[in-house]
Amino acid sequence: MCAVVGVFNVKNASKVAYYALFAMQHRGQEATGISSSDGVNMWTKKRRGLVTDVFSDEENFTYLKGSTAVGHNRYSTAGSDSIADAQPITAKYKLGEIAVVHNGNLINKDEVRQKLINEGAIFQSYMDTENLIHLIARSQKDSLEDRIIEALEDIKGAYCFIIQSRKKMFAIRDRYGVRPLSLGKFKNGGYIVASETCAFDLVGAEFVRDVKPGEMLVFEKEQEPRSIQLYPSDPRPCAFEYIYFARPDSIIDGKTVYAKRLEMGRMLARENPVDADIVLPVPDSGVAAALGYAQESGIPFENAIVRNHYVGRTFIEPIQEMRDLKVRLKLSPIKKVIEGKRVVIIDDSLVRGTTSKQIVKMLKEAGATQVHMKLASPPIKHPCRYGIDTPSYEELISANMSEEEICETIGADSLSFLSIEGLKKSLGEDRNYSLVSFDGNYFIA
Ligand code: AMP
Repeated sequence: MCAVVGVFNVKNASKVAYYALFAMQHRGQEATGISSSDGVNMWTKKRRGLVTDVFSDEENFTYLKGSTAVGHNRYSTAGSDSIADAQPITAKYKLGEIAVVHNGNLINKDEVRQKLINEGAIFQSYMDTENLIHLIARSQKDSLEDRIIEALEDIKGAYCFIIQSRKKMFAIRDRYGVRPLSLGKFKNGGYIVASETCAFDLVGAEFVRDVKPGEMLVFEKEQEPRSIQLYPSDPRPCAFEYIYFARPDSIIDGKTVYAKRLEMGRMLARENPVDADIVLPVPDSGVAAALGYAQESGIPFENAIVRNHYVGRTFIEPIQEMRDLKVRLKLSPIKKVIEGKRVVIIDDSLVRGTTSKQIVKMLKEAGATQVHMKLASPPIKHPCRYGIDTPSYEELISANMSEEEICETIGADSLSFLSIEGLKKSLGEDRNYSLVSFDGNYFIA
């Protein structure tokens, strides 16, 4: 998963891109980068690390000049986590210079890469995104716009691309609209395109609309963006964006993520009622669904697991005798609330089962008399190939065990999941969704 942003015709565009990337930090923490253009020259800075660390110095924004900028937060699903795989990817080619940012996953990346290598291409990274740059550079069309359109014909998968040239910007969403991409506008002119609308709220842009599946928006001069419908639209937004990935204050394809999470929790309560004393969320991912569950069931909601927000991505591995330290570093139960209670604990999803197992143990040690684990999404039985970082079949607990076996493994008194039908109903049956992790329907083949 990643975040992308494009800012066009806005003063200090790189600073605006920086704030937008900060709002979308949850979509990727490995690396970040911004390219800017003043219409004549282009500048790029990208590094491993968080947005505020990489761009901590104000001088970055005097270096990244101009009124156009594209930016990216990386969460690797393709390539490695080296600096060569940070974005934007930039290149000089026959018609000038471009910078490209991408969110998604290109499923025919290996074939395209091998074909390009056989024809003499030299790659700088392991990223699938680099294929697009080579295809653009090799096209014989006269304009960048036509070259992009031609290059996309060779690319299959889930993608949102934002491409910056010295004077223009292009935003493209694949025909299924698997990954989110929205258009915003500034009051005194200028546009922003971003993975999530929470970025607009921070920089003071007004939401205009979602980029349509299969659409390319062309930003040039001071005009309104021009829309080209490259492919017939066949919307299948990713259900996992609503379940886990996106920020709850974002609106994706007209639906507020928070409201959808509440609805998933309510549906979970209707499908899986239980006699219990309190409903707890796994913070922060289970909060909205747990609230929904509590509202629907009438069982009181308690915020009785405290999360330490300062646990970084790496810390020293605890020694064997302190193996519980790892979870306790992050989560801590309020014993007074839990002691002697029958607890319903809600999380958004079960992947390997590690979190649930540790939390059930923690709740029992805190004195819970029963622990009912409930997940506000269906069992994840298949890896996502469209841009969510899910492990292989071997590691997905629901691909290898029955619900009874999982319940026993995590040590809960009961275990239940939201059904696929329930998920669809919660999201709204007005459209199809990408549900690959749950139903294995790899519709982009
Ligand atoms: P696990 O402990 O492996 O079962 O993972 C479940 C936990 O990871 C839940 O709390 C989820 O909120 C979270 N989660 C689900 N999907 C992802 C993902 N793609 N990347 C990181 N965390 C995730």
